[in-house]
Amino acid sequence: PAPGKVLLEVEAAQKRFGGLAAVNNVSFEVMSGEILGLIGPNGAGKSTMFNLVTGAMPLSAGKVTFDGRDITRARQRKIAEAGVARTFQHVKLRPNMTLLDNVLLGTYARTKAGFFSGALGLDAAEEKRARYEAMRQLERVGLGDKPFELAGNLPLGNQRVLEIARALAADPVLLVLDEPAAGLRKQEKAALSALLKSLREEHLTILLVEHDMEFVMGLVDRIVVMEFGTKLCEGDPASVRADARVQEAYLGG
Ligand code: ADP
Ligand code: MG
Repeated sequence: PAPGKVLLEVEAAQKRFGGLAAVNNVSFEVMSGEILGLIGPNGAGKSTMFNLVTGAMPLSAGKVTFDGRDITRARQRKIAEAGVARTFQHVKLRPNMTLLDNVLLGTYARTKAGFFSGALGLDAAEEKRARYEAMRQLERVGLGDKPFELAGNLPLGNQRVLEIARALAADPVLLVLDEPAAGLRKQEKAALSALLKSLREEHLTILLVEHDMEFVMGLVDRIVVMEFGTKLCEGDPASVRADARVQEAYLGG
């Protein structure tokens, strides 16, 4: 998709959990090549929106379009194959596997072949290509010097970066991240921010779901603010930061 075109369109999305509307009539767009920040206080509905967009949960109402395709009712697998890659709010790496093998797990997300057909040596050429690709992704995120280290031995900041490498291994068009900066030290946040900026320069589009407003402000092109399941406002970082409603939502949360 050309830069500046709508890549992801969410129209009047709604998600109900019994009587609670965790996401209520929320619409926004992610433009190709941008980093869009989706922020809001705890309980605003950010993770629920993340789950709707990545197909982890079905919508109660509304529509999601990715790259011109209606993915409203598409399964998670189909959405991944279409080019949407995700990470998790709570790191779900395999701590007893090497960095390389963790990234290898992501390589097959856009192919029909499962990881285990490669791991079992059913197609040696394919596995070799996948290992090469996994190594390339480790290098891309700055973890190429220790591919055989166990993931569980990494500091949290590097584990988050490894999660991103695993998502990149699927060669996504859109990377969707849920609170990648949570729990990170100041230096780790700065390194993560620099990595995401470098990915944008490589024309990756990023939807960044994040509670940490300061982390988002110095990084994203535009911001959508959620509160109580609805969209509070949207705009460029400076105007969102200056918006009294946003300040109130964060102080209240
Ligand atoms: P955020 O990520 O912004 O903190 P969430 O999307 O996790 O917010 O949660 C929004 C609201 O939906 C909260 O009130 C939360 O308790 C509720 N919620 C989230 N997931 C579920 C679920 N699976 N079942 C019931 N309620 C949920
Ligand atoms: Mg959340």
